[in-house]
Amino acid sequence: MDLGLAGKSAIVCASSKGLGKGCAMALAREGVDVVINGRTAETVEATAQEIASETGVRTIPVPADATTDEGRQALLDACPAPDILVNNAGGPPPGDFRDWERDDWIKALDANMLSAIFLIKATVDGMIDREFGRIVNITSAAVKAPIPILGLSNGARAGLTGFVAGLSRETVRHNVTINGLLPGPFNTDRLRQTMTKRAQDDEDFEATMKREAQGNPAGRFGEADEFGAACAFLCSVHAGYITGQNLVLDGGSFNGTL
Ligand code: NAP
Repeated sequence: MDLGLAGKSAIVCASSKGLGKGCAMALAREGVDVVINGRTAETVEATAQEIASETGVRTIPVPADATTDEGRQALLDACPAPDILVNNAGGPPPGDFRDWERDDWIKALDANMLSAIFLIKATVDGMIDREFGRIVNITSAAVKAPIPILGLSNGARAGLTGFVAGLSRETVRHNVTINGLLPGPFNTDRLRQTMTKRAQDDEDFEATMKREAQGNPAGRFGEADEFGAACAFLCSVHAGYITGQNLVLDGGSFNGTL
């Protein structure tokens, strides 16, 4: 299927590795020029080069913290009128809410709610004027099935999801859609870090990975490439009637019909 995206431009936040990189690569394979972002300049440069040499599109490396005003401005300076915006950032740490102070909550809200809302604010009206826009927010399966120790993530991502639920119904009339992609366990650095912490005393890391993967209905973890493919479809010209949705990609872990 031709996704109809050749020649378009995208800002993909937090895309030097993991799920964001999967999205950037999938969009680039469809001929989209992509802004590659992360806080570590070397990884950003390396990923931008890798994607450019595989796909031939223009990639713009922007080393910046997407959760700060300055970082978002750097992304917008690199691509002031994107056709596609993929919001993403690292997830907040786990813990017990009794230990979290106001600053912990503000950091989580900045990273996983407000940074996406401010990038939407900066780009959505231009998309409306141009009668095309696709915004995808990478959140978490925890939006549908909250995980108790990830209270900061549950709260901040629910806030973004609720905000978008309203706005996405106003923009769709102008061919601008906003949707959430909700990852379950995907084989990325972040997942490997989590698994390292979860490894039991009598078990090595690989055994933990295998046990956890087997516990998923699919019998495996997801791969960033398949996450990217779902993102590219939601950004395609064929997806203009899909808005305000929250698509869970988790191998079927979330056991429900809605
Ligand atoms: P990852 O493999 O650790 O990659 C994270 C990427 O984001 C890196 O490129 C990182 O580069 C960049 N990044 C992190 N914070 C950033 C910031 N403030 N500004 C700009 N770039 C930033 O993580 P992932 O697995 O792809 O996870 C992506 C998101 O999905 C996270 O919010 C995570 O909580 C969520 N999620 C993941 C899973 C999973 O199984 N993988 C499951 C549920 C939810 P630098 O470190 O150099 O900045």
